[in-house]
Amino acid sequence: MPVVGHRRPAYAPEMRQHDLLVLGTGSGNMVVDDSFTDLDVAIVEQHRFGGTCLNVGCIPTKMLAHTAEVADTVRGAGRFDVDAQLERVRWADVRDRVFGRLDPIAEDGRKGRQDTPWITVYTGHARFTGPRTLDIDGVAVRADRIVLAAGARPLVPPPVAESGLPYETSETIMGIDTPPRRLAVLGGGYIAAELAHVLHSAGSEIVMIDKVERLLGPQDETVAAEFTELARERYDLRLGRELTELSGEPGALRLAFDDGSTTTADMLLVAVGRIPNSDRLDLDAAGVQTHDDGRIVVDAHQRTSADGVWALGDICSPVQLKHVANREAEVVRHNLRHPEDLTSAGHDLVPSAVFTQPQIAGVGATEQELRERGTPYRVGTARYSDVAYGWAMEDPPGFCKILADPGSGALLGAHLLGPQAATLIQPLVLAMTLDIDAATLLKRPYWIHPALTEVVKEALGALAED
Ligand SMILES: Cc1cc2nc3c(=O)[nH]c(=O)nc-3n(C[C@H](O)[C@H](O)[C@H](O)COP(=O)(O)OP(=O)(O)OC[C@H]3O[C@@H](n4cnc5c(N)ncnc54)[C@H](O)[C@@H]3O)c2cc1C
Repeated sequence: MPVVGHRRPAYAPEMRQHDLLVLGTGSGNMVVDDSFTDLDVAIVEQHRFGGTCLNVGCIPTKMLAHTAEVADTVRGAGRFDVDAQLERVRWADVRDRVFGRLDPIAEDGRKGRQDTPWITVYTGHARFTGPRTLDIDGVAVRADRIVLAAGARPLVPPPVAESGLPYETSETIMGIDTPPRRLAVLGGGYIAAELAHVLHSAGSEIVMIDKVERLLGPQDETVAAEFTELARERYDLRLGRELTELSGEPGALRLAFDDGSTTTADMLLVAVGRIPNSDRLDLDAAGVQTHDDGRIVVDAHQRTSADGVWALGDICSPVQLKHVANREAEVVRHNLRHPEDLTSAGHDLVPSAVFTQPQIAGVGATEQELRERGTPYRVGTARYSDVAYGWAMEDPPGFCKILADPGSGALLGAHLLGPQAATLIQPLVLAMTLDIDAATLLKRPYWIHPALTEVVKEALGALAED
């Protein structure tokens, strides 16, 4: 373990002392830039550098999702009078290409930090032993200021954890050697949906299980309903039921549900949510408070309840997304350097996307949220089949749905399901962030004809007619 702590007197002879310590190298690693060269900085990581997004999250899933799209394009070529046949998806080669590219980035990240003279890298599991004092696998470390960026991990429900049988999570399934013949996916959120899409395209039969009746429940109700119906055409959906027992043997699993039904699978993927890693940090010793769901309590400036301790990303955020964690890391970086001029991230207009087939994206309120809040709204919807590029694509399923204030035309929410949804949402994100109303967004900019963005333009037009 390399050590640099050379500038300050130690609190106890055996205690290492730093000006700043960052715990976790996902988004936490972004906090430290060259504006910190005047400090003695420590970075702690127990696994691979780069955290979830780089190693087992956003990036590998999207690289796999794109490969799935390539395979599905070949499968669907006949619709365009193109004769083509998919021979097979060489899963092991796909996996090795993806991780062969990402693993060196993680290693370079670690090496870059280790080679920086004013940074000490600790490899190990950190937990608090007192205020701003940590144990890192037997090494006692103290820092004047600490940033907690320890992320979250997959939640494993008791029937699976207690079964003693093997299961996969998002942290392991991308490393498997061969796609299973039949994969049971427990969970109906975005991680479950993306990984089901990837494995289905690679040749697995999918049975998808969720305790609610609709996949992607938190999405706008129209999006969730249409996505569920499209998924039903490809997957064996078991919705509205909970897993009560996992039995059988490795490779021949039996899943029993609370309605008495059962199914079988040769592999199980558990994707029912992620819990913050706060329970593994002994936060009580540091005086850092948490919410009931395990998230660290932070104020608008990312300060925890303990003096000098900050937090960012999945361990504290109400929205577990990388662009949110990145923004919070920028906020912490600024606030550490400018305590007299604190900034905030704000979470009111966070867009999100699901990289499935079809893609999904949303920003702002859903229709059900507006209804529940009693907020008046108008709806404008256009389908991909309404616009010329949609005709070029032979009318793919999907739509753009925009919600706006009936009086002012202020945009309240926007939701897309269909090709390139994650890209098409961006003009709507900009408009909402910059307070551009629906009529101005429709009429002021030119909209390229006949680009797919016309589905957004048509939805804005439909809003005007509602
Ligand atoms: C399959 C999947 C797909 C995703 N896709 C997307 C997407 O498309 N878009 C998007 O915006 N978000 C996506 N996310 C979410 C995104 O990955 C996270 O929101 C983001 O990575 C969180 O960053 P973080 O810095 O808070 O935590 P992490 O990146 O998880 O970093 C935490 C780090 O802390 C380390 N650590 C934890 N505890 C300790 C300890 N006690 N001692 C030492 N080290 C410790 C961990 O090893 C880890 O490296 C996805 C997540 C998953 C799982």
